[in-house]
Amino acid sequence: MNSTFESPRAALAQDLTIIGCRAGSPGTNGAASGYVVRVDGKTLLIDCGPGVVLGLAQRGLIERLDAVINTHAHADHCADLVGLAYHRLFPNRMPQLPIYAPEPLLRVLDLLDAAFGIPSLPNLRKPLNIAFAPHVVKPGDAFEIAGTRIETLVTRHPIPTMAIKIPAAGFVFTADGAMSPQLVEFARGARCLLAEATYPDAVGRDLVSHGHITAGQAGALARDAGVGSLILTHLSSVDDEDASLRAAQSEFAGDIHLARPGLCVPLAS
Ligand SMILES: [Zn+2]
Ligand SMILES: [Zn+2]
Repeated sequence: MNSTFESPRAALAQDLTIIGCRAGSPGTNGAASGYVVRVDGKTLLIDCGPGVVLGLAQRGLIERLDAVINTHAHADHCADLVGLAYHRLFPNRMPQLPIYAPEPLLRVLDLLDAAFGIPSLPNLRKPLNIAFAPHVVKPGDAFEIAGTRIETLVTRHPIPTMAIKIPAAGFVFTADGAMSPQLVEFARGARCLLAEATYPDAVGRDLVSHGHITAGQAGALARDAGVGSLILTHLSSVDDEDASLRAAQSEFAGDIHLARPGLCVPLAS
């Protein structure tokens, strides 16, 4: 579905903060996938990979979250939901947090509750389902979070996965997934494109069945979609940073950033 990005609105600060950006696992450069978007006066967490709860706590953001959007049920995007649930329930119980995700991720919440629930503490009996209010999103469908429209796109990834567009902030996140014409259309006109760049190049990679793009493809996506700026994330290795940046720059002449924890960029408002 095509959509146009909305025109400027009230002057609330809108921005993207990188909490974690690694593919796979936390490492010397911080947590796995986790991004905070402030839009329409709301604070949304997109993905909650391992290490993200610490990053949120260090920035005083756990108490400010209004909702979580989880793109898919791979561990590097959701494993810290356990820690987030515990943090919001112990020692004091915070209000339930809506979580929007494809159906398999919500089944993971039940599995985690079965594994990590603490029957002797009422708030932690089923920590995930007590801390979060689950909402199933069918990738490709749009939904609203308290009046803010969120659009999604099915990505080419081995499990149900959704790219995210927040028109009110001019923001698109590819999530994980191989290149497709639909992804170019989905990203068209974004002011800020946060794109996975799992590999610096395609040499020896099965990008389609594994469902990822290279840094060069991320640059081509930014160029073909006519976006304002590009942020590369989800790199497999810090050793790839320079090569990845060069590969993206060879395709896209606009602003390019490498994601790193603490990077904060303004979004359209
Ligand atoms: Zn991933
Ligand atoms: Zn994945």
